[in-house]
Amino acid sequence: EYAVVWLRRDLRLDDQPALRAALDAGQVPILLYIHAPHEEGRWAPGAASDAWLHRSLQALREDLRKRGSDLLLRQGDSAEVLEAVIAESGAQAVYWTRKYEPATQPRDAAIKRTLRERGLTVESFNGTLLFEPWELATQQGAPYKVFTPFWRSALKQWHLPEPWQAPSRLPAPPTLHGDDLDALGLAPKRDWDTGFWEHWQPGEAGAHEMLEAFADGALHGYRQQRDQPDRIGTSRLSPHLHFGEIAPWRICAELARHHRAGTAADVDGYIRELGWREFAYHLLHHFPHTPARNLDARFDHFPWAARDAATLRAWRQGRTGIPIVDAGMRELWATGFMHNRVRMIVASLLTKHLRQHWRIGARWFWDTLVDADLANNTLGWQWVAGTGADAAPYFRVFNPVTQARRFDPQARYIARWVPELAALPVAQRFAPWEHPQALAAHAPGYPTAPIIELAEGREAALTAYARMRAAS
Ligand code: FAD
Repeated sequence: EYAVVWLRRDLRLDDQPALRAALDAGQVPILLYIHAPHEEGRWAPGAASDAWLHRSLQALREDLRKRGSDLLLRQGDSAEVLEAVIAESGAQAVYWTRKYEPATQPRDAAIKRTLRERGLTVESFNGTLLFEPWELATQQGAPYKVFTPFWRSALKQWHLPEPWQAPSRLPAPPTLHGDDLDALGLAPKRDWDTGFWEHWQPGEAGAHEMLEAFADGALHGYRQQRDQPDRIGTSRLSPHLHFGEIAPWRICAELARHHRAGTAADVDGYIRELGWREFAYHLLHHFPHTPARNLDARFDHFPWAARDAATLRAWRQGRTGIPIVDAGMRELWATGFMHNRVRMIVASLLTKHLRQHWRIGARWFWDTLVDADLANNTLGWQWVAGTGADAAPYFRVFNPVTQARRFDPQARYIARWVPELAALPVAQRFAPWEHPQALAAHAPGYPTAPIIELAEGREAALTAYARMRAAS
């Protein structure tokens, strides 16, 4: 008897509840991936995500072939493709792990209903989160809007699935026609992504290697170093988590093995960051309008500046003249990633000093990040812009120069990503416009003035905020 295991954003075999359900029922799994970006509404994956997905699917297919199975790829409408595969194989069951984006949830519910009505076994599982987004609620039964009580309640109800290892041999699936991976058009047509793959190995094996390297290295001292972009101080597991190449509970289990004296606090600190990811999914589930609209509705009256093409171009290209911002935007372009602290700094400049709407920044991140994730990206942007849950208040405006001095004290991160500034003495790399002669001598191509005078931008932001408060 056959069962369809519909893979979506759970591109792994270990800790894979849908695969496990098929095997436990004694069924032969048909591992199916349906390429249907048109079903994601306004949030079809961006270019960097597609480039990652291409390689992740490749890795998964190889892994399955090594085990005597295969990956069946099809493109089209999910419901129709599933119907076709069921008809062609005579499968009796369909299993998948849940996805939580507002655009595809109704689709999944409809598919489940239709197939069940036809007498098939259909089960969905949690494959992505430590807690289902609806599992935790305040004493009044309401969603949380503040992280600390959310996380406190999560820790009280802590229960994790046991890690599960997929068998080294899988039964052979039936021969069905599939689409060619290359035909899905996921790989970039021009090779702007070559630099990415010096940093990343998409797929389950790459995820486990990243975790091991983290557990042996940056985990020790994580709490102190996670904010410093000039070091490898974090796990860089976010794209692997986004694509479900590793389960968060497996990360917790592996790190718990390192829970020795000395690292216990770092492990707890790290798991708390995973908690922010849980919180993001909780918020997206309860407030599905937030990718497009302010969670804090007062900001619907905020006087954003008009969309400014030249400003946005400078920000995107890393040519604002503010080195820490330019370094971040260039890291993003070159690697598909940006350090969390720097994400906050570039987002703050855009939404406060430059008063461009946070949605514009969120969309650029969506296209360029390999870890672009609707829940996390929405939370991140609304948090920085001050429009979201438990957000940094709008009036708290980061000074990018002070931030850089504090978190990149040797300006090593700046020198790495804005190499034309590396010839300046460290002390001059944070605000090079204050050293015009050095700038002219060593970095003639770099902007001689910041895109906005920082004190002026801050004042304008605070004035705009005061106007909004007066109006609401
Ligand atoms: P680590 O420090 O090793 O953290 C471990 C994991 O915890 C991460 O992989 C991630 O899954 C989770 N995590 C950590 N911090 C956060 C956070 N603040 N919010 C939610 N989850 C978190 N993260 C994304 O995965 N996708 C996004 O699209 C995204 N957009 C962001 C946009 C902005 C403006 C900001 C400020 C943050 C955004 N983040 C996003 C959160 C965070 O920057 C990244 O998760 C983190 O930098 C990933 O690096 P890491 O895996 O080395 O993190």
